[in-house]
Amino acid sequence: MAKVSVTDLDLNGKKVLMRLDFNVPIKDGKVGDDNRIVAALPTIKYVIEHNGRAILFSHLGRIKKEEDKPAKSLKPVAERLSKLLDKPVTFVPVTEGKQLEDAIDNLKDGDILLVQNTRYEDVKDGKYVKRESGNDPELGKYWASLGDVFVNDAFGTAHRSHASNVGIASNMKGKSAVGFLMEKEIKFLGNAVDNPERPFVAILGGAKVSDKIGVIDHLLGKADKIIIGGGMAYTFLAAKGMKVGNSLLEKDKIDLAKQIMDRAGDKLVLPVDNVVADKFDNDANTKVVEGDIDDGWQGLDIGPKTVALFESVLKDAKTVVWNGPMGVFEMPNFAKGTLAVGKYLGSLSQATTIVGGGDSTAAVKQLGVADQLTHISTGGGASLTYLEGKVLPGIQAITDKD
Ligand code: AMP
Repeated sequence: MAKVSVTDLDLNGKKVLMRLDFNVPIKDGKVGDDNRIVAALPTIKYVIEHNGRAILFSHLGRIKKEEDKPAKSLKPVAERLSKLLDKPVTFVPVTEGKQLEDAIDNLKDGDILLVQNTRYEDVKDGKYVKRESGNDPELGKYWASLGDVFVNDAFGTAHRSHASNVGIASNMKGKSAVGFLMEKEIKFLGNAVDNPERPFVAILGGAKVSDKIGVIDHLLGKADKIIIGGGMAYTFLAAKGMKVGNSLLEKDKIDLAKQIMDRAGDKLVLPVDNVVADKFDNDANTKVVEGDIDDGWQGLDIGPKTVALFESVLKDAKTVVWNGPMGVFEMPNFAKGTLAVGKYLGSLSQATTIVGGGDSTAAVKQLGVADQLTHISTGGGASLTYLEGKVLPGIQAITDKD
């Protein structure tokens, strides 16, 4: 069901509650990488340019005890946001009460206010009560009462049911809507999985099979091919009877890997050679091996024949979804497979290429291929949940379009 968009709302003179993802690194009281703040600007600008009074909410990190709070204040974010917009941003250092309510009452059309980190509500009077992360019904109701309409543009938390997303949306008297970032994520990930242009190829990598079982399971019914690389490939190779030496192996998932391979038939594409190392170190001795990996050696990247095989599978793809690196990309000597796959995806001008968040996003950015891909998802957990075919509560709670 399509969701109401921020562009469908009447914003003029309205108090617009907005859930954004300002979960940015803070060092010495200053914002480090401000990508997430920059990414939120179009929706904030749209709201204030349409005379809304923007009341912004976000979480920052985790708060489990009172002492966690000072380092997780959103004040530095208010300062950076104000610079980026070249406009004052009122920062309210609390998450409820008179100070917040008065500040909201004082807002004029087009003004912006940032509420303190929503997870301050997780610790009250020194106790870890998880009011925000546990979606305390009273908290969602209270926050919802502070505004007229709600805009959720935080995809990264959409797979979680928190007071500041699901709580507010389900208690809003007025409409709730998705912002531009969220809309883009739904469009690309949703279309890729539910209505892909074919052939649809999924590339899955990363450390563990156990993290991606739900994704493999769901995509087996959707994709034309599933390419498996990274550490998780070795559990599949072991299930085929290959020796994997000291490579990453989940022994308790070998049977499951066998079942998946039986179901998948030739849909599943596994590595045919590997770059193996004599220790987990960038400066380890390395060699490329086809077939069995001897004890004392571990596979840390896919080999050149595998890159060629994967490219041949990807050649005619019209939709590609990628989640998880092909090797230990953090070490330059084992980043080649991930880089080659990323570069090849970048060259597929006829295909919609989507990177599904988390480590793969970090990999394509670090390797400088992000610009050549169609969509880089901002949410690791949220995009995995999407690829598992599950409902994202943060999106579900938004008003349906008529
Ligand atoms: P994930 O969070 O499941 O996507 O896993 C990402 C992590 O998997 C990265 O930190 C990679 O270094 C790691 N990884 C990828 N391939 C391998 C491998 N062959 N051996 C060990 N770790 C790997």
